[in-house]
Amino acid sequence: MTEPLTRGAFNQARAAATLASRRDSRILAVVSVALGVFQLIFLRWADAHLERGLKLSIALPAFVIYITVVGVLLWRMERRKRSLAPICPQCGAKLIGLSERVAAATGKCDSCGGIVVDEDHADRPSVGRPTPGSFSE
Ligand SMILES: [Zn+2]
Repeated sequence: MTEPLTRGAFNQARAAATLASRRDSRILAVVSVALGVFQLIFLRWADAHLERGLKLSIALPAFVIYITVVGVLLWRMERRKRSLAPICPQCGAKLIGLSERVAAATGKCDSCGGIVVDEDHADRPSVGRPTPGSFSE
């Protein structure tokens, strides 16, 4: 059990997870489209230049490799998303998807009800209530 995150730290963790997820989806999109287009071009070419048996013996393993590559990229993307997700300091639950949005809106964990975001200890004491000594000058 650790201290609740400040709002700033929580937002920073969310932003880092979102950024990584966006980058991973872009890589996934580029790789899957590029490999897909390459396969289509190959099939077109093979229709004209290769006999059916040879064409299939190349195209089928290539398709299996394509599915495997896309699957591995998806798996890595999901794993990274989970590893970067903010964690409930009370119960250790990963705050992903709906849980993350609930924590952002309420500051609480939807699994245990514990405080995730400590709104009382703002990162910028100049905003909100004055800190001791701020009126001494
Ligand atoms: Zn919790």
